[in-house]
Amino acid sequence: MLTPEQILSDLIKVNTVNPPGNETAAALYLKGLFDAAGIPNEIVEPEKGRGSFIARLGSGPKKLLYLSHTDVVPAGDDWDYDPFSGDIRDGFVLGRGARDCKSLVAAEAYAMLKLAAEGVSFNGTLIFGATADEERAGFHGVRQILEQCPEKLQADFVINEGGEEPVEINGRLLYFIQVGEKGTAWNRLTARGKSCHGSIPTLGANAVSKMAKVIGAISDYRPEIRLIPEVRALLEEIGLLTGFTSPLQENNVDLLLETVEEKSFAEALRSMSRMTLSPNMVNGGSMTNVVPDFCQADIDIRILPGQNKEFIYNEISRLVGPDVEIEIPNYYPSTISTSQCEFYKLIENATFEVAGRNISCLPMLSPWATDSRFLRDAGIPSYGIGLMAKEFDPQGRTTVHGRNENIDVASLRLKADFLVTLARNYLT
Ligand SMILES: [Zn+2]
Repeated sequence: MLTPEQILSDLIKVNTVNPPGNETAAALYLKGLFDAAGIPNEIVEPEKGRGSFIARLGSGPKKLLYLSHTDVVPAGDDWDYDPFSGDIRDGFVLGRGARDCKSLVAAEAYAMLKLAAEGVSFNGTLIFGATADEERAGFHGVRQILEQCPEKLQADFVINEGGEEPVEINGRLLYFIQVGEKGTAWNRLTARGKSCHGSIPTLGANAVSKMAKVIGAISDYRPEIRLIPEVRALLEEIGLLTGFTSPLQENNVDLLLETVEEKSFAEALRSMSRMTLSPNMVNGGSMTNVVPDFCQADIDIRILPGQNKEFIYNEISRLVGPDVEIEIPNYYPSTISTSQCEFYKLIENATFEVAGRNISCLPMLSPWATDSRFLRDAGIPSYGIGLMAKEFDPQGRTTVHGRNENIDVASLRLKADFLVTLARNYLT
């Protein structure tokens, strides 16, 4: 039987950069492994080349879905090694997708093959779904499958990517279970004015100047802090570890965050506690000597559970005033699965079983989005994991969507152990 690192290495060699994806090539590789093990499987290919691979082990009413995606983002330049070599070197697997998300594909495939090889008799069904097109919003992957044949992904609960990797605070290692994701409400703002010659600008109305004031207002805006119960629990545990003794309230969240030494983690926590607005593109004007009559700005807005389109529209209208047009061309609400249930407990217990009892295991709301949002909207509780071995290098996370992507073999094996443990605990 192949090891998880061999499966990952093979998957990295299959180029599935999206666009164009070509995920069918990865699906065919998985099909070879699962066919050889006698596990029933299929490739669902709603668009040519955009195949997702689905397999099922066991039968019975209980259903657990191992989800992952096979597409990767473009590699870009300046790597220290070939992004598609899949080399295994000094305890690391190297290449595009090593973390996002082919490590999870490999760990889930390995876990399924191992359970099949052991002949574990299930009192339920373990479903494996390695889907296409996650990196470009799932249109040719999970979304299409849920529209055309939802029964293929129907499960009691889902394990997917999306959890923050472990963080160490004052000697304690924290592991995370992603229970929800913030939503997106990208805004496109348009300011209009009146053109005239740039030498007598007071004859016109400058749309760029108008937009500059609006962007200033957006940058100065301090969104209200709102803590969902899971984020409150997470912050309270962190407060205990950093020695922040005041009772946690919305108005002292930022003080607590100052006690967190790891800056990137503190900023992720800040994003979990409020809406964020980032003016990321501005476009206006045509020539230096022409007063512009048009300026457009695109604002990346990420919203909390309970903040809907109407809320965003009202908040932004208040900020920008009546003179600027607001559109919301990309909207997807926040999604959340409860932590107060049997499935969350199972995931927590399996984490303790493989990572040891001297860790903390905490829920989190991710500032980013994954395919879990579509499953949650289809009524299927979904949880993201970011399990890594204790000795993992925290700097490695910066290689996701960046250069020199890699993962250590120990972390890959820990993921596989976790998945085997979870399936055994739930389905046998
Ligand atoms: Zn991913």
